[in-house]
Amino acid sequence: MLSKERVGFYPGTFDPMTLGHGDIIQRATKMVDRLVIGVAINLNKGPMFTLDERVEMVRDELEVAKGKLNGCLVEVHPYDDLTIHFAQEHGAGIIIRGLRAVADFEYEYQLVGMNRQLDAEIETIFIMANHQYQFIASRLVKEIARLDGDISAFVSPRVVKRLYERVGRT
Ligand code: ADP
Repeated sequence: MLSKERVGFYPGTFDPMTLGHGDIIQRATKMVDRLVIGVAINLNKGPMFTLDERVEMVRDELEVAKGKLNGCLVEVHPYDDLTIHFAQEHGAGIIIRGLRAVADFEYEYQLVGMNRQLDAEIETIFIMANHQYQFIASRLVKEIARLDGDISAFVSPRVVKRLYERVGRT
C-alpha cells in the first residue's frame, strides 16, 4: 500500500521569528513529512519587517537548524490568501498553531471553528513550546528592543542584529 505524505501548514506573521516559533517548527517536524511555513503579509498588524524580510528571517533560521528538522522537508512561502485556501493549494491536511497562555485560546478557538466550516477535512493541531519559550511574543520582543532592553533570550543572534538595526541600536 502506498503511504500518503502528511503535509502540515504553519501560518504566522513572524514579525520577527522568535525562539518560540522555532521550537514549534521543530516539534511540528516530528509529526509531518513536509511542513509548509506560510508567512502572512498581515499589513493590518503593521509589521516592523517587510514580507520579504520576514520570509528571509525564517529561511535563515531554518538553514541554521537544518540538522534538527527530523528529516522533514520544510519550505517557507509568503502568502496573502485565506489560510484555508493556502493549505488546500499546498495539499496540507493539518494546520499547525502554537498555543501560549489562555489569552491565545479564544481567538484560536474561533479560527478552528471557522476553518472547519470552510473545509472539514483539514484538522488544526496545537503545539505548546518548551517552558522557557512559552511566554515569548513577537510584539513584546519588538517593544523591548525599542526600549533598549536585552532580547537575546527570545530571538536568535541573527534576529537580534536585524531588530537592533531596525530600531536604530548598534
Ligand atoms: P499570527 O499573526 O498568526 O498570530 P505569529 O507569528 O504571532 O502570527 O504566531 C504564529 C503562530 O505561532 C501562532 O499560532 C502563535 O500562537 C504561535 N506562537 C508564537 N509565539 C509562540 C510561543 N512563544 N509559543 C508557542 N506558540 C507561539
